[in-house]
Amino acid sequence: MPATRLASASLAGRRALEKSLSSARSLTGAGALAAAAATLAYAVVAPSSQLFGPTLLAPATPDEIALTFDDGPNPTATPRLLDLLAEHQVRATFFLIGRYTLAQPALARRILAEGHTVGNHSMSHPRLPLCSHTRITAELTDANHAIEDTIAAPVLLFRPPHGFRTPFVLRTARALGLTPTTWNLIANDWSLPTADAITTRVLAGIARNQRRGYASNIVLHDGSQTTPTADRTRTVAATAAILTLQSLAPFVTLDTWL
Ligand SMILES: [Zn+2]
Repeated sequence: MPATRLASASLAGRRALEKSLSSARSLTGAGALAAAAATLAYAVVAPSSQLFGPTLLAPATPDEIALTFDDGPNPTATPRLLDLLAEHQVRATFFLIGRYTLAQPALARRILAEGHTVGNHSMSHPRLPLCSHTRITAELTDANHAIEDTIAAPVLLFRPPHGFRTPFVLRTARALGLTPTTWNLIANDWSLPTADAITTRVLAGIARNQRRGYASNIVLHDGSQTTPTADRTRTVAATAAILTLQSLAPFVTLDTWL
C-alpha cells in the first residue's frame, strides 16, 4: 500500500478525530459527546480505521488473496492446515500467540520452514487498549522474543488481538520494527456453524473486495485465545474448499505487501 495514501488517510483521520473531540469540548450536548465516543470506538476496534495511524490492510491488486491464520500454533489444526497448503502449493501468514509458540516450538519452526510468513499476535492475547503501557510493551516485546528466538528469523508483522489498538499500541509495534496489520475480510470462523458457511462468507468477501478494487486480507483461525488445542475442523475444511475453488488465484503472504 503506498505510504502516501496511508499517510494522507492517517492525517485525515487525525483531523477528523481532533474535530470530533473539539466539538465535544465546545458543545456540552450529549449528541456531540456521543459522536466523539463513536469516533473513538471506531478508531480502536474497526479493522479499516486509520485514525490512530496506518495499518496494513490490502493493496489495490484485486486478484491477490492473502490467507491469514490467527491464534496458533495449535498442535491439531496447524499441522493439518500446513499439509493442505503444501498440497496446493500455497503460502499463508500465521499470527502466532507468544505463549503458544513457546509450547509448540517445533510447529512454529515448521510454519517458517514451509515458506509461510510468521507474525506477532501478542504474548497472551489481551484486549490491549485496556492494558497499562507497561503491559502493552511486555505483550509485544515478549512475544517478539519468544517467536524470533524459536524460529530464528525476524518477525515483521504485528496483528493486535481482536484488531483492538490505540496510538500507543501502534507506536510500540513500530518501535519493534513491526508493521501493524489488520484485515479487510473476517470469516467469523469461530462462530459460524458449518464449513460451508465459512467458505460462503469468504468467497463473498473476496468478490466484494475485487469489486472495490482491492486484494483480500482474510482472517481465519487455526487456534483460539482461550484454548490452545481448539477444534478448528470447520476452518480446515473451509480452507480446503477455498483453495480448491480459488485454485488459480495468486495467493500471497502479507509481507509481500510491505
Ligand atoms: Zn486473535
